[in-house]
Amino acid sequence: MPKTASTYDYIVTGFGCAGMSLLHHLLNSTLSDKKILVIDSSDKVANDRTWCYWAKAPLEIHPKNSPLIFWENIGISMGNQMVKKSLGEMKYFHIKSSDFYGEIMKKINSFSNIHFLQDTVLTLEDNTEGGVTAVTKNNGSFFAQKAFNSIPHSPSRIANKKILKQIFLGWKIKTNRACFEKDTAVMMDFDEKTAAETAFFYILPFSEKEALIEYTVFSTDEVDMASMETQIKKYIQDNLGELNYEITFREEGSIPMTTFDFGKPTSQRVVTLGTLAGCSKPSTGYTFHNIQKHCQNIVNSLENNEDAKALVWKRKSRFNFYDNIILNIAKKWPKSLPVVFVNLFQVNSGPAVLSFLNEETSFLDELNLLIRLKFPIFIKSLIHYERH
Ligand SMILES: Cc1cc2nc3c(=O)[nH]c(=O)nc-3n(C[C@H](O)[C@H](O)[C@H](O)COP(=O)(O)OP(=O)(O)OC[C@H]3O[C@@H](n4cnc5c(N)ncnc54)[C@H](O)[C@@H]3O)c2cc1C
Repeated sequence: MPKTASTYDYIVTGFGCAGMSLLHHLLNSTLSDKKILVIDSSDKVANDRTWCYWAKAPLEIHPKNSPLIFWENIGISMGNQMVKKSLGEMKYFHIKSSDFYGEIMKKINSFSNIHFLQDTVLTLEDNTEGGVTAVTKNNGSFFAQKAFNSIPHSPSRIANKKILKQIFLGWKIKTNRACFEKDTAVMMDFDEKTAAETAFFYILPFSEKEALIEYTVFSTDEVDMASMETQIKKYIQDNLGELNYEITFREEGSIPMTTFDFGKPTSQRVVTLGTLAGCSKPSTGYTFHNIQKHCQNIVNSLENNEDAKALVWKRKSRFNFYDNIILNIAKKWPKSLPVVFVNLFQVNSGPAVLSFLNEETSFLDELNLLIRLKFPIFIKSLIHYERH
């Protein structure tokens, strides 16, 4: 890679889920001949996370060369009460990030017009010649007509804003005896014995003897990882009893839960992607499917020469309203949160709730779904409505 400035059509800074998804969609489009530089500080080989999403069929970007893993039921539980829902025609799909990275890296390597550079981006700015300049730590500067950026804000910047975050730690464990119900992914287990008020466990059983167990906390402050490990150990002990297990994979994360545009583009020529662009659903943290919708929209808009506004991630404003009602409850009356989620799944069908959470419902569907819920806490949240 040259040390002096080189010029590209596009520069993609941050080549994680969103950067790779954009490349995938671009290379499937009429823009596949663009000269593109992608820069990431990592070599994108490590298996650093798992992604789940729900849909009727695997998304087109779902890795093809690895076994398809999915669940047909989901569970939500609180105390001794477990609400188990069939997903009907939908499935809850799972992706191992290293499979995803591997397939997209292979795809870009087959295009001579795409260059991957492993380096740290220091700044990304408009330049006087009407383009964008990315300055890297070790390889100098690069120019392009447009940049697509998904480099996350520093944790301190998110913390300062007192935004609620979904902070989690997960262990994939292998046990010496059968102890998981492998047909059901448990999205939320509000375990009163172990967890704090706005915390729950997430269980993905891969077999009767293997599962990802994740402890998740909604918090405005940082949470100490050692205390989260203690929670997972205690959950295993209390719920699975005496057994031997080995930890085969570990993941952790912090996803912002906010309806504020905290990654608003600072320039017409820099398009933000992924979590930075606000693709994380504020009330649930699910991001993967939204990233795919956003990247596909970007590519369609670029093909049609639409202006910069068309490239921004947008949601219908009524979903911001629903999310704020939930976030308000999470912040002000956290004890009610488990009941809100359990009630939502208890009185509605699995596909109806998941379509709602994917923001794929009509206003009429939403009325039909919300009218069944226990009202008092929602009225309280509405009276004290605030944007979060
Ligand atoms: C452990 C974990 C599990 C998750 N599970 C789910 C899930 O099941 N379902 C779901 O919908 N969402 C999930 N999410 C949320 C979301 O889908 C992911 O965080 C997703 O990876 C976001 O994509 P992104 O491209 O915005 O960020 P990332 O994938 O994190 O990509 C950002 C990239 O920027 C690079 N980078 C950072 N700084 C620099 C720099 N200065 N210079 C160059 N490169 C830099 C990083 O190396 C990284 O590759 C999860 C998140 C985490 C952390």
